[in-house]
Amino acid sequence: MFDLNSAILSSIGLTLTLVLVLMIFGAYQQRTLIMHWVRGLLLFALGLGVYFIAQTSLVDGPQGVYAASAVTIIAWGVSLYVNGIRMFRGYRVYRYWPLLVVTTLLACNAVMLNTHTSERWILLSNLLVLICVFGDGSRSLVGHGKDFVAHVFWLCCSLFAGISLLLAFMATKVVLNDHVSLHSFSDWRIHAYVMSASVLVFTAVTALLLLVMHVRAQAGLQAIATLDVLTGVLNRRGLQEAATRMQAVSQRIRLPMGLLIVDLDYFKKVNDVYGHLVGDVVLKSCAGTIRAALRGGDVIGRYGGEEFCILMPNTGEQEAMILAERIRRIIEVTPVNIAGVESMSSDTQAIKCTVSVGAVSSETVGYGLEGLFAGADQNLYKAKQNGRNRIASNIDQLLNKPPESHKPAKRHASLIA
Ligand code: GH3
Ligand code: MG
Ligand code: MG
Repeated sequence: MFDLNSAILSSIGLTLTLVLVLMIFGAYQQRTLIMHWVRGLLLFALGLGVYFIAQTSLVDGPQGVYAASAVTIIAWGVSLYVNGIRMFRGYRVYRYWPLLVVTTLLACNAVMLNTHTSERWILLSNLLVLICVFGDGSRSLVGHGKDFVAHVFWLCCSLFAGISLLLAFMATKVVLNDHVSLHSFSDWRIHAYVMSASVLVFTAVTALLLLVMHVRAQAGLQAIATLDVLTGVLNRRGLQEAATRMQAVSQRIRLPMGLLIVDLDYFKKVNDVYGHLVGDVVLKSCAGTIRAALRGGDVIGRYGGEEFCILMPNTGEQEAMILAERIRRIIEVTPVNIAGVESMSSDTQAIKCTVSVGAVSSETVGYGLEGLFAGADQNLYKAKQNGRNRIASNIDQLLNKPPESHKPAKRHASLIA
């Protein structure tokens, strides 16, 4: 027989198990956040315990006082748990909200119990506060976007909303039932159902939030694995992945793709004269300057020590050349400020840098990534040979080509040869 007392006892057991799992999890991850949930669930379990005492008459005294205290502790626990959710989602956390909930319930219950208000009003006011607390949880769990995490949040949101609806249904029953059946309120079937459902919802929501935490940690690791630590742009691995993706899309929709290799001129001298720390500052600053000069959709990565690679979707030979010249120019006119670097012994405030750029596009070498990188590298070599602080591209090749040799595969073959 599924009675209220069995429901309460099994709910306490399940909640404490959940607390244990969370404490083990929180021992090595997101401790502060997890402790919000742990405190909330512990209070929830305590509230259930007090409720059990009230139901089974284990102690003497007015049962109403125990029941009201139990609801107050439960509401406190739920609002602490919801604050944990808000913290997890990066929303503003209202630290005083749980206290406000507790004070409201304590004040209302104290006044109503002392003035012998009818049982219906006491039940209704307590249920209303619980509906608000679960409703607040549901509001804090609304999903944004259409990705997997957003769907998980929507699921959690509907679970909390479901409890609010069950409580609202219970409140409606309290309004509609007569005095006699209100006396046997604790024997109502729905009472045990709501109790068990709320614990199951807590278990499901906690498990889903831990899953989201895991997904985010994975995404963070993935981002770290593809980023260059010094400059913050993509590293070689990230660049390779981005290039493969861009090449596949460009080839499928038959749009040209451009590629630049940018190399700092005489960078070894910067290291030799000012030291490696200054060299690092220069690299970082140049990466930032180049990044700022790019268009939306262009991708920048660190190709080697002082070499950057730029991938440009929907970019032909001419546009690639224009962007290469823009980057060359902007680096030339933007001195790197090194005034604050600790290892600096000289009074130099800023260093003027220049870059050489090798540009190429699929219009002249085809879509093959090897051909694109090799073509840009060859043009970079030409720019260096011609005196540095300049760009080189295959634009002449394109202009001189007879119409039939404009097929990307043939041009690629001739360039590599
Ligand atoms: P060029 O104009 O021909 O490109 O001459 P360069 O001196 O720029 O080229 P070279 O290949 O001779 O030297 C590149 C230097 O870049 C050598 C290396 O010490 C330096 N370098 C590579 N990675 C880093 C880095 O992460 N930090 C610093 N500070 N220096 C780096
Ligand atoms: Mg180099
Ligand atoms: Mg160089």
